[in-house]
Amino acid sequence: MCIIFAANWRIPGCYATNCHFLPPAEALEQERSKGAKMTKIDVQPGIMEIALYQSGEATIEGVSDIVKLSANENPYGAGDAAKEAFRKAGQNMHRYPGTDHAALRGAIGEVHGLNADQIICGVGSDEVLQFISQSFAGPGDEIIYTEHGFSMYPILAHACGATPVKVAERERVVDVDAILNACTDKTKIVFIANPANPTGTMIGGNEMARLAKGLPEGCLLVHDGAYTEYVEGFDGGAGLVDSCDNVIMTRTFSKIYGLGGLRVGWGYGPKELIDVLNRVRQPFNLSNMQMEVAEAAVRDTEFVARCRSDNARLRAWLAEALAELGVPSDTSCANFILARFASEDEANACDAFLRKEGVIVRKVAGYGLPNCLRITVGDEAGCRRVAYAVKSFKEQKA
Ligand SMILES: *Cc1c(COP(=O)(O)O)cnc(C)c1O
Repeated sequence: MCIIFAANWRIPGCYATNCHFLPPAEALEQERSKGAKMTKIDVQPGIMEIALYQSGEATIEGVSDIVKLSANENPYGAGDAAKEAFRKAGQNMHRYPGTDHAALRGAIGEVHGLNADQIICGVGSDEVLQFISQSFAGPGDEIIYTEHGFSMYPILAHACGATPVKVAERERVVDVDAILNACTDKTKIVFIANPANPTGTMIGGNEMARLAKGLPEGCLLVHDGAYTEYVEGFDGGAGLVDSCDNVIMTRTFSKIYGLGGLRVGWGYGPKELIDVLNRVRQPFNLSNMQMEVAEAAVRDTEFVARCRSDNARLRAWLAEALAELGVPSDTSCANFILARFASEDEANACDAFLRKEGVIVRKVAGYGLPNCLRITVGDEAGCRRVAYAVKSFKEQKA
């Protein structure tokens, strides 16, 4: 039987956030349970468990002067070298891109001192994470992530039919012993972002190594390094990849490089495992334009260094300003702050107030942090604006 998806599946008003042709799983399940089964095509195990990823909002109805601090984007945008490469790209749109990403991998290897043969590039690091879950886990297997871990991890687990297992953190910090205790003979992958999103906390290299070495045989540690560049002198787990045979590091161009809209990420791991991932990767997953711009960006180390130091300075300022207003946060190692309010009600009220002021931050109740708001460190004006808005919120409440 052949089905026309778009016309039948559209449920108005239900799914305005980020996906224009799929109703949320619940709505679809409701339709099905009412007997309105629309198709006899069976869905693979796990897929209907997926709760669609919620991306940071970008607009507020009726407000034009907006500062978006909800998606951990670089407030300065992309660097000049990347912008210049973008302008030059696109001359050969009729030509298929290369399938091996050699120039981009070469540049990444050169800049970071890594063997280019152990690098794989994807459509954002999300795609690399997907290659990993698809290649190394399936129905009957378990994938561990932590209490406040990045919400893509359970999505990826369900998408490959594996069971996501959520492990407790200790005061918003990854707890290595709890993870080791949760491992079973079914555990195939452990996903850890370090620094973590949305907590902004980090565990030390020794702890990460203890985790990698303590995992059961056959279990892979994925060190998601989306925020690596914000930590001065940090290798993002590359050294751990070199000293173990069960670790893959992922990195992204979406954060400090300011290229979230371009969609490029990469992974670094043992050659043997990268070769596996390349089998599931589509040959033309990256366009010429993506590769050329990302290559220019990775070589622009000066831009990265400037963004890192600006972020550190403004992050410290913002954290202190909020703390003085009675809104504490853990020391953040990334480009955002997890602001803790007295209660869920206060966090929601502050979010509503900020929105009226044109400031968009991120609610993180879905991450088990209902009394918190995640605030991306903006440029100086953005930081002042959000701090001032929180101050006004506190004053009007008092
Ligand atoms: C932003 C982010 C990513 C990056 O995703 P891309 O697909 O590269 O844009 C990965 N992991 C975490 C924890 C993130 O916060």
